[in-house]
Amino acid sequence: MKRQLVWLRCDLRSQDNSALYAAAEQGPVIALYLLSPEQWRAHDDSPNKVDFWLRNLRVLQKDLARLNIPLLLRSAPDWSHAPRALLDVCREHDIGTVRVNEEYGIHESRRDQAVRDALAEAGIGFHSHLDQLLFAPGTLLTRSGGYFQVFSQFRKLCYQRLATALPGCLPAPRAQEPLGVPSDPLPQSLAGFEPTAAQAAECWPAGENEALARLEAFAEDELKRYQEVRDRPDLDGTSRLSPYLAAGVLSPRQCLHAALANNLGEFETGNAGAVSWINELLWREFYKHILVGFPRVSRGRAFRQDTEALPWRHAPADLEAWQQGRTGFPIIDAAMRQLLETGWMHNRLRMLSAMFLSKNLLLDWREGERWFMRHLIDGDLAANNGGWQWSASTGTDAAPYFRLFNPIAQSRRFDPHGRFLRQWLPELAHLDDDAIHEPSSLGLFAAADYPPPMLDLGASRERVLRAFRELPKSE
Ligand code: FAD
Repeated sequence: MKRQLVWLRCDLRSQDNSALYAAAEQGPVIALYLLSPEQWRAHDDSPNKVDFWLRNLRVLQKDLARLNIPLLLRSAPDWSHAPRALLDVCREHDIGTVRVNEEYGIHESRRDQAVRDALAEAGIGFHSHLDQLLFAPGTLLTRSGGYFQVFSQFRKLCYQRLATALPGCLPAPRAQEPLGVPSDPLPQSLAGFEPTAAQAAECWPAGENEALARLEAFAEDELKRYQEVRDRPDLDGTSRLSPYLAAGVLSPRQCLHAALANNLGEFETGNAGAVSWINELLWREFYKHILVGFPRVSRGRAFRQDTEALPWRHAPADLEAWQQGRTGFPIIDAAMRQLLETGWMHNRLRMLSAMFLSKNLLLDWREGERWFMRHLIDGDLAANNGGWQWSASTGTDAAPYFRLFNPIAQSRRFDPHGRFLRQWLPELAHLDDDAIHEPSSLGLFAAADYPPPMLDLGASRERVLRAFRELPKSE
């Protein structure tokens, strides 16, 4: 029986892994991972994320070893080298079929097509499997056959499909007979990708067992109050599973089933927390479908093409103040420091800091998108781009351009006792629960080592509203 090769990418788990399971059903399996540092750099993949991949890969190698599946490691500095690398492994190990789980960016699709073509010429099969999503892009379309641009309509169709055909979870493959092929040693780190976030490893331990335990604990204990606390960065009220989902250490099916198991099998009704959490899983789905349906967004273009004419400012010092958490607006600064220190940021704060950059500072959202990508442990092109374009009002189903969050009012509302602010801004810790949101209200010396607000909220709001109103009308 010809051997099967599973080429792992962002699907670093043994359970509910479509390609791995299908391969094991067909014959003896070998797994492969490619190190592609130049490609990762070109994609702004953060050192925190690459380190997380490597940490998970090391755990996965042990999990696979228990199933007698060797994990090989090869180098393809950028993806133009992928066809050669795959061909070499296939020849070396007498592989009949390569299996992968589908990935959706333009470069990912081109890479897979090039590999498919090269393997076909050598008479080797290539199969890709739906795994990262509940629904394959292109299978949820509007009546006129286009991709949905409005989330609520997309979600409605998702509900209908889930009600009739709920995708199930697959077990890990059964242990196979030993192949006598040794696994390759995996690096502890990669030059140029040393993690920058000091707390990332502690906050996000590697491995699918860890991820599954966190999912179960969240679904059983926290899910019911998710709706109430999901916007509170001080309460730890969200799952924090995004790094595991982005690296494929968890699957969206596993998440969906965990939520359903704690909501009597219902996704549209029942517990408000479960419904709201499933809603977020569907936003994840929506943005990946957008990436495929409107490839311009993964080429760095705005979804709303008229907004390309916005007069973004060139102000490197302002950009740096935002990046380093020195804007003088405590909630923005605490958020940016959370990102630098942990590689993750709470969703409400991602929206606040993205709006602050793109609207109050009138700096190009692409600068912020890049900075996030270079630091996030859960950096995901579709979700990050979707979130940035939502916040900047350049995206599909985005915030209306006149909607600007006031960072001080939001801070008072979602961190009422200033606990989150005190955690990340020790220089403000001595201020009371009211003043901490707006230290400048106390005068210049409220906190000697904390900067004054870098802008006037009212004036900056007027400036961006004018810029949007003056956009040439699109046809
Ligand atoms: P939970 O609230 O527990 O949600 C569960 C899961 O649903 C998340 O793990 C995530 O996979 C998905 N999800 C939740 N909200 C969204 C959303 N709005 N869009 C898409 N998927 C969502 N998410 C990323 O995974 N990677 C990114 O690079 C990313 N960049 C973002 C940038 C901006 C400017 C904004 C506004 C949002 C971004 N998000 C991104 C979405 C969201 O902020 C994170 O998914 C969420 O904060 C992760 O925390 P959690 O796992 O506790 O989420």
